[in-house]
Amino acid sequence: MSQDTPGSTTTAPATGVPSDQQGDAISNLLHENRTFAPSPEFAADAVVTAADYAEADADRPAFWARQARELLTWSKDFDQALDWSNPPFAKWFVGGEVNAAYNALDRHVENGLGDRVAIYFEGEPGDTRTYTYAQLTDEVKKAANAFESLGVEKGDRVAVYLPMIPEAVITLLACARIGAVHSVVFGGFSAEALRSRIDDAEAKLVVTADGTYRRGKPSPLKTAVDDALSHEGDGSGHTVQNVVVVKRNGQDVDWHEDRDHWWDDTVGTASTEHTPVGHDSEHPLFILYTSGTTGKPKGILHTTGGYLTQGAYTHKAVFDLHPETDVYWCTADVGWVTGHSYVAYAPLINGATQVMYEGTPDSPHQGRWWEIIQKYKVSILYTAPTAIRTFMKWGRDIPDKYDLTSLRVLGSVGESINPEAWMWYRDVIGANKTPIVDTWWQTETGAQMIAPLPGVTATKPGSAQVPLPGIAVDVVDELGESVPNGHGGFLVIREPWPAMLRGIWGDPERFKDTYWSRFEDMYFAGDGAKKDEDGDIWLLGRVDDVMNVSGHRLSTTEIESALVSHPAVAEAAVVGAADETTGQAVVAFVILRGDAVDSGDAIVQELRNHVGKEIGPIAKPKTILVVPELPKTRSGKIMRRLLKDVAEGRDPGDATTLADNTVMQQIAASLRK
Ligand code: ATP
Ligand code: MG
Repeated sequence: MSQDTPGSTTTAPATGVPSDQQGDAISNLLHENRTFAPSPEFAADAVVTAADYAEADADRPAFWARQARELLTWSKDFDQALDWSNPPFAKWFVGGEVNAAYNALDRHVENGLGDRVAIYFEGEPGDTRTYTYAQLTDEVKKAANAFESLGVEKGDRVAVYLPMIPEAVITLLACARIGAVHSVVFGGFSAEALRSRIDDAEAKLVVTADGTYRRGKPSPLKTAVDDALSHEGDGSGHTVQNVVVVKRNGQDVDWHEDRDHWWDDTVGTASTEHTPVGHDSEHPLFILYTSGTTGKPKGILHTTGGYLTQGAYTHKAVFDLHPETDVYWCTADVGWVTGHSYVAYAPLINGATQVMYEGTPDSPHQGRWWEIIQKYKVSILYTAPTAIRTFMKWGRDIPDKYDLTSLRVLGSVGESINPEAWMWYRDVIGANKTPIVDTWWQTETGAQMIAPLPGVTATKPGSAQVPLPGIAVDVVDELGESVPNGHGGFLVIREPWPAMLRGIWGDPERFKDTYWSRFEDMYFAGDGAKKDEDGDIWLLGRVDDVMNVSGHRLSTTEIESALVSHPAVAEAAVVGAADETTGQAVVAFVILRGDAVDSGDAIVQELRNHVGKEIGPIAKPKTILVVPELPKTRSGKIMRRLLKDVAEGRDPGDATTLADNTVMQQIAASLRK
């Protein structure tokens, strides 16, 4: 088993020290002076080396062309790596033809890997299923035949409204196989959200389930589909001809004979003979809406060849994937881009064995994830900071009860991971030896863009660090000039990348306005970032959330990290509220750790001083509110704009993408106390 050794610039390790004595160690971390170099053993066995950076720098399109040919099997080779003659509309691997499902499945079986496990499925109630590559290939062929028999043709759109069960992956790959475009709607969304996405894509087929399980109880899904399709709207009809229903929790459902089909009766009885055809490299693969952290979600369009290439490359490089021996687990729901790129596509393209889990981390007990890791000997875990901070709040004695020694790479995605949470992840989950890869990317980028390579980069708590080979990321000032090390600005992407979005579904103008109008010839992602003295990139939050206090620009992420580094704080969200004297004032919402008592004014004063000490007096929050919960999207990201409404005394705005709509009421109630 490989090990990291602390780098030479390191301060004393915080390992094993109870969190209330870690103050100094953590504050050192916030000053960016700690790194963990890969161990010689890890580096020696790493699948990707530093040579990839040099190769990609020398000729970016040629680097990606090599990856495309090595990682995928093309039914027709491409003539040109990149056509960027009509920016911002890129074409990658022009003239090539490729079938995503064939690449994820059939070819592995043809190569003798049919008996390798593709998916270990763990249902919330404890039921399990295992699919080998041969079995999963058969299931996808059956689904492809069934969907075709229901009239789905190449280019048609299929809406998918399913829980985290294998049928979700099977459905996506079956669509890709026949060239239908899937549009997954997260199973927690309402009938209305589902309907608007069905209408936007003009979906012909909906694939759903009777329901799922949530914390031990059945939770319905099909009722929302029924509501969505009976919804009067503006009086016009919908485009859906058929609904395929997976029987998952056995609950009663309404039935529309002319429209509804049980999965078992259609897919279950279909033939396992199905010949894949190559689709054009630029054929649309899917539409997916962004998480909706900042506003109304955007329908992002991805195509085939470039998306699959960058997904497969990054999955292999960033997780140091050894498909023969690794067991990989990405905890993201298939309703988010992470569940597309790093559950449904890249792991299977790479021939990996992966775990898929239906439920929540606390069902039936708070050790469920660690139990799963112990059971399947998971070696690569990919999750979100929100989950890690929740586990910190629950306490280390829970994961400490399980054997987690199989883990060798830990990933993070979705938000900045505060140095404190990063260290906890490494120390408690990774036995203080497992590299942590913090991966920055977006629905729009399709695949990871900024991340360390675990066998190459000395990792640094709290920083996503370096653009991946073949990716041209920069931090620029207001005028689009690259900022020097030690400075902050706007995160941009300077060159087209294979998995880039090809547009917003049905709205090319909005695509240009949203991403390509702020700076000339650069994609602007909406995020603020800084380069530290080593040139490593730190994500600072959305530029719309940057605060201006008496002329000083302060980042949400930095103040939140300072708050979370205090032993009493589990989670923190910071917003700038309009203030007559200072322009904006820092308002912080904090959740205290399980064992910390809310001692009212005393803790508030202590936290203000703590932030003053960590960052400087200017960053001291004017107001700190202790709350029971924070508003989050269903993908687990903090929705600061709702907190800004609260801080400025307004009624919170559009909260339809909120995971739990009682949270805002809980916050309001706790503030009245
Ligand atoms: P919307 O665009 O609708 O507001 P969203 O941006 O939350 O929603 P996603 O595409 O799921 O939707 O999330 C991408 C965003 O998540 C990034 O722009 C960034 O703000 C944040 N993010 C993702 N990974 C990281 C990371 N490793 N570090 C910091 N921020 C991250
Ligand atoms: Mg976004």
